[in-house]
Amino acid sequence: MTMISLGKATITRVEETYLPTYPAKQIFPEWSEEINARHAHWLAPHHYEPNGGLIKLSVHSWVLKIGGKTILIDSCCGNAKIKPGRPFWTNLNTDYPERLAAAGARVDEIDLVMCTHLHHDHVGWNTLQRDGKWVPTFPNARYVFSKPDFEAFHALDKDPEEGPAEMGTFRECVLPIVEAGRADLVTGPHRLDETIEIIPAPGHSPGHVVFRLTSGSEEALFIGDVFHHLLQVFYPHWNFPKNSDAEEARVSRRKVLGLAASSGALVCPGHVGAPFAGRIETDAAGFVPRFG
Ligand SMILES: [Zn+2]
Repeated sequence: MTMISLGKATITRVEETYLPTYPAKQIFPEWSEEINARHAHWLAPHHYEPNGGLIKLSVHSWVLKIGGKTILIDSCCGNAKIKPGRPFWTNLNTDYPERLAAAGARVDEIDLVMCTHLHHDHVGWNTLQRDGKWVPTFPNARYVFSKPDFEAFHALDKDPEEGPAEMGTFRECVLPIVEAGRADLVTGPHRLDETIEIIPAPGHSPGHVVFRLTSGSEEALFIGDVFHHLLQVFYPHWNFPKNSDAEEARVSRRKVLGLAASSGALVCPGHVGAPFAGRIETDAAGFVPRFG
């Protein structure tokens, strides 16, 4: 587990899973052997499994400590959840709470849980089942959710034809937090405190947001699923499947990449492989990732 120091903050990645998953060509229709050859020197082994032609994806949280607060950013898939079409994240049985504790963030030490968006793989540990009821996993935390995301998934969840939203995780991992009065629903742009700003970056989900941390002259951007893979830094028009609005996702990706490049911020995505965080630079051709 690597702890990154940034200004007065520390940032630690807590892994839930890190696996070769879907065929690259299935995820990215633009994928070609020519592109594979051009990027082969960095793709394997951290971002691509050449034997199966599979892209590697991590599912992890970021633990941010700043100003005496312990903040959990995105809460992964959770254990024992059945996710049709997602075999890599179905029926998990990980020791994620112990991993959090090893990162200096026991469940009772977390002050704030912030979700970049409300997809199933970002809300999973928000709640636990106790006596047949879904209750907050983090007994002392408030939760920050995007209001436009909450409203969109709530509407979907209530629709008898479309619901339950996000394979049931909306009503298991999001709604009980709001009903317990533990959630702050925010609409960006919004300044949470002197160090954290919430920036809208919709398209992957209707209310997807990015968290921007500033400490002294240092910055970090927790970008969730603005991009899933470093190939999308070179090719920002490449979308990952499951966007609420594909064109909006492209606009947000370019906007966030531009912000990362101009600010020099440390970029902490939700699914990119090792070393999991890095910087964005530009050259004549466009954006270039500097991850490790
Ligand atoms: Zn995700």
